[in-house]
Amino acid sequence: MKIMTIYAHPADTITNCGGMLARHADNGDEIVAVILTHGGRIHPNKYAEEMRKENPDPAIAAAGLQDVVDNKKEELRRAAEIIGIGTVVTLDNDDRMAVVSEEMVDQVAEQIALHRPDVLICDYPLNPVVSGSSHTTATMTAIAALDRAAQFLTVLDGQAEVNVRQVFFTGMQSIARDALSSYGERNDMFIDITPVVGRKIAAMDCFVSQGYDGLFARKLIESYNGEFGRAAGVDVAEAYVRFRSETHSLLPLTPQAQEFDALTSHITYSRMNVRAEFPIVT
Ligand SMILES: [Zn+2]
Repeated sequence: MKIMTIYAHPADTITNCGGMLARHADNGDEIVAVILTHGGRIHPNKYAEEMRKENPDPAIAAAGLQDVVDNKKEELRRAAEIIGIGTVVTLDNDDRMAVVSEEMVDQVAEQIALHRPDVLICDYPLNPVVSGSSHTTATMTAIAALDRAAQFLTVLDGQAEVNVRQVFFTGMQSIARDALSSYGERNDMFIDITPVVGRKIAAMDCFVSQGYDGLFARKLIESYNGEFGRAAGVDVAEAYVRFRSETHSLLPLTPQAQEFDALTSHITYSRMNVRAEFPIVT
């Protein structure tokens, strides 16, 4: 399987789906991570915190756009290596984007045509009226690019159409476990990331400049992935929403569902102690 992630900022790929990507990398699948913006203004802790000090470090205070971007790219490069992301494409657009631009749709459609992924991964889009969310804009861009790439015509565009097989959205703020309790709005698929959670934490530890390392990495895994894990019946999980309905020849019943024991699962999925197993490296 060839998986392409399309996210607004460098760290999004890791926090949203780093565990799933690590499992697919271990499975021998190819991963291409497309990052739309340089993300220099997103969680700029290293620089903003320094400027709050009475005597800021001159080297950090003098950082220009290229320094900020290069530093974040190096953090991303190390994180991608830990996860097993084979190709990282940084489009380096400005991260002040509030609306979908034709230019960025073209850029992403080109990447889809170049890499021809089977599957796209992007953020679950929030209400598009909340235009301050660059994550929503990124997904709107991805879907528009998906349609654009699907309509490529060799005689007109110099490249053939691309049929992406499925899109999975990450990060929907819902933990309902069934189709009825939230009237259908829910993550409809979980990926058990327990076997690779140490790599997701180590990858998050790379993003020092935005304070995603150390305490926050462990908090995110314990709370966010931990709560999805509880819903999924495993230690830690990532949650996904399938864009397109699936077609099966027989009713699907997963191995997890067949093995699930409601009487004991709350104990078995509660054993992991994230902070003890993955201590902060100082
Ligand atoms: Zn982001």
